[in-house]
Amino acid sequence: MFKDPICGMEVSESEATFKYEYKGKTYYFCSLYCKEEFEKEPERYIQRREENTSNEES
Ligand SMILES: [Zn+2]
Repeated sequence: MFKDPICGMEVSESEATFKYEYKGKTYYFCSLYCKEEFEKEPERYIQRREENTSNEES
């Protein structure tokens, strides 16, 4: 199982129609929408998962 970095849904490799390779890593998405969101700003979503401590308040 892979986690959709956009919405957090779990996607299994066998049914992962939407995938995107970035910096040698493959990311899987539940929908085309999530994939497109990731493609726009991959760094944003990767960082969000790695450092969960950033306090971003508007
Ligand atoms: Zn999704």
